[in-house]
Amino acid sequence: VQPELAGDFGVLMEWADGVRRLKVRANAETPLDCQTARDFGAEGVGLCRTEHMFFDADRITAVRQMILAQDETGRRAALEKLLPAQRSDFTAIFEVMAGLPVTVRLLDPPLHEFLPHEENEFAEVAAAAGVAIDELKRRATELHEFNPMLGHRGCRLGVTYPEIYETQARAIFEAALDVAEKSGKAPIPEVMIPLVATKRELDLMKAVVDKAAQVVFAERGKTIDYLVGTMIELPRAALKAGEIAETGEFFSFGTNDLTQTTLGVSRDDAARFLGAYVEQGIYAKDPFVSLDIEGVGELVQMAADRGRATRPDIKLGICGEHGGDPASIAFCEKVGLDYVSASPYRVPIARLAAAQAALK
Ligand code: PEP
Ligand code: MG
Repeated sequence: VQPELAGDFGVLMEWADGVRRLKVRANAETPLDCQTARDFGAEGVGLCRTEHMFFDADRITAVRQMILAQDETGRRAALEKLLPAQRSDFTAIFEVMAGLPVTVRLLDPPLHEFLPHEENEFAEVAAAAGVAIDELKRRATELHEFNPMLGHRGCRLGVTYPEIYETQARAIFEAALDVAEKSGKAPIPEVMIPLVATKRELDLMKAVVDKAAQVVFAERGKTIDYLVGTMIELPRAALKAGEIAETGEFFSFGTNDLTQTTLGVSRDDAARFLGAYVEQGIYAKDPFVSLDIEGVGELVQMAADRGRATRPDIKLGICGEHGGDPASIAFCEKVGLDYVSASPYRVPIARLAAAQAALK
């Protein structure tokens, strides 16, 4: 029993842990989140989003320089500046997680969120990159997207600018080796590729990650184990999961995007009409909170079946918001996922719901 959960509640959690089959991980992206998650009993990080690492006040200028660079050389110059900070972020996370699994998702931003808007922001990038402000503004206009959530995000970013994923992978492996050396406990990073729709995308991105691993291992004269897998968050990925599992060593269901793309409902704008939809009985509950089991759930079941048919020991988890919702957790138990991943404060609820699901 964690000391933070002592008393009757701690006893209840202990009973739940004795019964449940599903592992419970947390969605955590800072060492503090990770510590909170561990205090609540998380058995790993199921989703470490890396976008926040790029929004940090003292990094954003270099990030903008990278996004607005005209070519690979320009992007690499900016990425080099960002490498030490990323390495220390991952080191701190691996230290807190002390050998528990950590799934790190490579960058998945709508690109426009990184673009400068204010004059002074453009001026900062111009000074850092040695490029004229007008040139940067022209480039920013070129990067405008009408529908960023369906645009240049996820692995599409990695396919067009592989050096971004290469640098992230490098930071992950360098940090993992540092922590292994210091603590004697080697982290097992699970490198996760977002928004994959085809096996070829995953093949390309896995090659980038594997190459970065080989380079770092050769430099250090040491190796560690790691996995490369994918999010299943697009209907096409669910349909083609059998093929994708030839490359992917694990799947994590990104049910936020899978709900958005299966229902064709924007996750950012749904609030305007979803109330009426629930009132009219079109959806029993808000499908972004509680999994649409009949629809989206069928895709999850299908992908799990097809993935396991190809790779019987494939590791399966869920990291969308639904991973902390008891009704959705009951469904995950039925599908036979290995773990659910929820926000740190929902970890105790997930432990309890996993136990109830197992008993049922
Ligand atoms: C998801 O899509 O379910 C997911 C976990 O990723 P994000 O919310 O970061 O898009
Ligand atoms: Mg997503």
